[in-house]
Amino acid sequence: MKTSVTGFPRIGALRELKFSIEQYFRLEIKEDQLLKVAKDIRVSQWLLQKECNIDYIASNDFSFYDGVLDMAVLLNVIPDRYKELQLSTLDTYFSMARGYQEKHGDVKALAMKKWFNTNYHYLVPEIEDDTQVKLNGTKIFDEYKEAKDAGVQTKPVMIGPFTFLKLTRYCGVKKAEDYIDAASDSYVEILDKLQELGAEWVQIDEPYLVHDLTNEDVMLFTSLYEKILVSKGNVKVLLQTYFGDIRDCYEQIAALDFDGIGLDFIEGKQTVELIDKYGFPENKILFAGLINGKNIWRNDYKKTLHCLAQLKNVGIETVIGTSCSLLHVPYTLEHEKRLNVHVKEHFAYAYEKLWELSELKKLSELQDAAAEKEYQNNQKLFTGDRKAANPKVHLRIAKIKDSDFIREPAFEQREQIQKKTYQLPLFPTTTIGSFPQTAYVKSKRTAHRKGQISDAEYEAFIKDKIAECIQFQEKIGFDVLVHGEYERNDMVEYFGEQLEGYLFTEKAWVQSYGTRCVKPPVIWGDISRKAPMTVAWSVYAQSFTDKPVKGMLTGPVTILNWSFPREDITHQECAYQIALAIRDEVIDLEQNGIQIIQVDEAALREKLPLRKSEWYSKYLDWAIPAFRLVQSGVKPETQIHTHMCYSEFTDIIPAIDDMDADVITFEASRSDLLILDALKDNHFKTEVGPGVYDIHSPRVPSIPEIIAALEKMAEKVDVDKLWVNPDCGLKTRGTDETEKSLINLVTAATACREKYNK
Ligand code: GLN
Ligand code: ZN
Repeated sequence: MKTSVTGFPRIGALRELKFSIEQYFRLEIKEDQLLKVAKDIRVSQWLLQKECNIDYIASNDFSFYDGVLDMAVLLNVIPDRYKELQLSTLDTYFSMARGYQEKHGDVKALAMKKWFNTNYHYLVPEIEDDTQVKLNGTKIFDEYKEAKDAGVQTKPVMIGPFTFLKLTRYCGVKKAEDYIDAASDSYVEILDKLQELGAEWVQIDEPYLVHDLTNEDVMLFTSLYEKILVSKGNVKVLLQTYFGDIRDCYEQIAALDFDGIGLDFIEGKQTVELIDKYGFPENKILFAGLINGKNIWRNDYKKTLHCLAQLKNVGIETVIGTSCSLLHVPYTLEHEKRLNVHVKEHFAYAYEKLWELSELKKLSELQDAAAEKEYQNNQKLFTGDRKAANPKVHLRIAKIKDSDFIREPAFEQREQIQKKTYQLPLFPTTTIGSFPQTAYVKSKRTAHRKGQISDAEYEAFIKDKIAECIQFQEKIGFDVLVHGEYERNDMVEYFGEQLEGYLFTEKAWVQSYGTRCVKPPVIWGDISRKAPMTVAWSVYAQSFTDKPVKGMLTGPVTILNWSFPREDITHQECAYQIALAIRDEVIDLEQNGIQIIQVDEAALREKLPLRKSEWYSKYLDWAIPAFRLVQSGVKPETQIHTHMCYSEFTDIIPAIDDMDADVITFEASRSDLLILDALKDNHFKTEVGPGVYDIHSPRVPSIPEIIAALEKMAEKVDVDKLWVNPDCGLKTRGTDETEKSLINLVTAATACREKYNK
């Protein structure tokens, strides 16, 4: 039995690459210094994998920013606007990643999109009609040689032509099909060169295959690979798939001349079934993705060995590997100094997953006493009690009734009741919640965390900020106010820290895009609320004004989606547990005089299945009810808001309406208000506040600009249902630009009121 790693994280165990790249951006270090840091990271990681007995180690899984961008450059897919800047190769690359606004010109970055169902984001390649797809760079060759020089034979990896062409944006009239020849020729050339350099195996990643595929898609795939495989020479090609199963093309792929096929046994729910049904081709090696590349829990050796034994029984030559690149998990538990050992033993980050692979390799072969001991230790983790269960939570979940998902009375009646209660003008104004988290606010929080200022001092500071924030909103004439969220570090962490069942790590950083990393908290056990979490701040804010102040909570699906989830219970169950905890908070807010409550679901779309055919059955059918469970217990007068951002919503509009909130605000300004048509076509009932300006930039929107946006909205949405608000929270903005923007927003809303109030 051999072992394989699909790809390794690259940002550095202590985010060394991130910090060096940022220094390079600030011109604090030169290119050669950056290259040295990068090389050290690569070499040390290859050697580490070699030490851990990994047989198929990836090279070219490194990136200064993003692997899709690397592939675009390798294939010469570089839009002219970047070439025209006449920068060095590395700076041209960075200009595609982040845009460029300096002495050589002013160009925007390539678009960035979510990488399948992960929280990683890739840059979208752009092909113009005159783009010549051809071999352009040398990165993949250089890194292969570098590894070889360091004494490590690697399998170079690259994004495959099918996935690449499917993810590309076509700016002219040409389409993916027009690039079949050019792309396959380029891949053949790459394979040839790698073979010349001594590569035995090459891994070609085709994650796009796990989508619902059309016949045209399958034809595109086969045309590309028929050409590539005919001329591939002696180098062995591993077709690597991940993030699901390949049920729409399994037979076609099995029939092609690949030497190895990599299948995902973790997220690929039908992978085993497909092998059972169609068999696995005799002359090929199966790279079985059995170690979860996306989560941090230890692998259950019993289950894995059972699966391997079955594959062996039917005579399949199997290599054990990771379900996808380890890019999506943190580096190592070594730096987690604060986690209890009895907690840590349940986790495996990237390094520890290498050990798991090597232990499984031993266990699947001979009797090995040391490995046998590891097996026993491993099984203890799954048979023992890890003190995660809370019987009270289970009881509550068991008692949930169908009626708990339904808010009474129906939306239309509530809407009338609420109109009478609040007497809001047309075009009511509000914000999404947070106000600028200035360096000063953050420094106070840090000082408090480090014990440099007392609880009382910190609380007094936050209270002053709240009072100031309320006064400002009153002064400029907002209708529904917020307290400003000064007390929060992050919309998930803030709640996670106060909920029972959560754990926090010190160094579990995962790359989100470029140099940006996130540190998701871990759902360790059953979730419950220990005490009210936000009530005191909201009540304090409300004490300064007669206008309604919105209570501000994060919804269950977002909390779940931005955490490392448990593997011993379903996501649905976990979401319901969180929903009940947030529900208690909603009721407490209501009982304490907070009349409007916003439950943010910014990340609702994040874990939508890749296959459209499974959107409802595998996800929305519990995610939407989880939200409804949060809010169904309130009085008819209490107005429930929700907020969404970071993604497109046009295709799930009916599901959003079905959340049955009273008002939803969402990000809209960057998508040119395209969402309005979707709202209209779907007879959206919920009142809406499509953001009138982009909060990702410091730019202050002008009054006419906001009026124009509102007029455009009023064409598609009934004015009685329209709210006026920015795209998202203001925490990343500066105070000055925020004040100016909000004043313009209120002025524009007032002008529209006069115009439409006839
Ligand atoms: N209420 C949150 C805020 O304003 C929402 C953040 C978000 O949508 N990402 O910061
Ligand atoms: Zn938002």
